[in-house]
Amino acid sequence: MSRPAVACIDLSAIRHNYRLAKQITGCKAAAIIKANAYGHGAVRVAQALAAEADAFGVACIEEALELSESGVRQPVLLLEGVFAPDELEQVDRLGMMVAVHTQQQLQWLLDAKPARKLDVFLKLDTGMHRLGFPYQQAQKIHARLSACAHVGSITLMTHFARADEVGEDFSATQISRFQQASQHLPGAVSLANSAGILAWPDSHQYSGRSECWVRPGIMLYGADPLDQPNQLSTQLRPAMTLQSELIAVRELEAGECIGYGARFQCKKPTRVGVVAMGYADGYPRHAVDGTPVNVAGQMSRIIGRVSMDMLTVDLTELPQAVIGDKVELWGQQVNANEVAKHSGTIAYTLFTGITRRVPLQYL
Ligand SMILES: *Cc1c(COP(=O)(O)O)cnc(C)c1O
Repeated sequence: MSRPAVACIDLSAIRHNYRLAKQITGCKAAAIIKANAYGHGAVRVAQALAAEADAFGVACIEEALELSESGVRQPVLLLEGVFAPDELEQVDRLGMMVAVHTQQQLQWLLDAKPARKLDVFLKLDTGMHRLGFPYQQAQKIHARLSACAHVGSITLMTHFARADEVGEDFSATQISRFQQASQHLPGAVSLANSAGILAWPDSHQYSGRSECWVRPGIMLYGADPLDQPNQLSTQLRPAMTLQSELIAVRELEAGECIGYGARFQCKKPTRVGVVAMGYADGYPRHAVDGTPVNVAGQMSRIIGRVSMDMLTVDLTELPQAVIGDKVELWGQQVNANEVAKHSGTIAYTLFTGITRRVPLQYL
């Protein structure tokens, strides 16, 4: 026997969600599998999508190397480009696509001596103000790239700051700035992240464009990025089930407190379950009393502060619950977004925060 804390990954849900992204947009889709596929295991996710993914997106060369060493053969897009010029040798050798977002990266690229043409994603800043050339400079930078003999295709790319807020029109502003910047330039375009795919159809297709790329990340893993779910986002299937078991059950009298800091005090006789799952597994320590959990198919709630290896749940309404019962922390029955809300964070940090103590099991 071993500790029951595991993260079960449903690879068919990830395939379903990838297909949904393609079906909604009609675009090519670079499956974003940076940060170990948001905690789901980059190699396994890439293998599960190998037959259909147009490309994969990662944050750095180390993540790309892990894929190529595991035999993944799809093109890989380096979303932030290279961090040092010598990485361009790997980009060349592995046939990767590379983003360019600063003058320095542009210079490295122009000075490189690759054996083949490099396909470039030219990143434009349309309002996120994190990475990218100001969109007003698109023509100028594009001209420098297209004059270079070893630059292959040039895809214009931008990234949304507020696409998850469906009632907020800043995405429309970004789309129109991007349109302005790109209208006289040839080649493919790429705007939408998951929220763009689900909520901003104008970011999918451009008349007269041969090619459009979308970049689904969080939606692949089944968490709805939108602040108001819509008809598309409700079709997502959660891929990760974080689960464990009850390892102790106790009855406390009214007035007794639970755990560190005595955060929860029993107002009445209370049945308490202890679950083998804590913040050292990646479960958020900030989860408040009332954060949903599921015990043997029934909804319950966290009571008391989450500790390193354990947390405590209310079993007062579940008199039949016993040691060994399965507990779902998030997954099919407990929405990861709900847990995130109760912890002052987002599903992204929950998924990427799962630690190596938690084995990933694949369905
Ligand atoms: C991470 C990332 C994405 C994916 O974002 P989601 O919100 O997870 O869909 C898309 N594009 C870029 C440039 C990224 O860095």
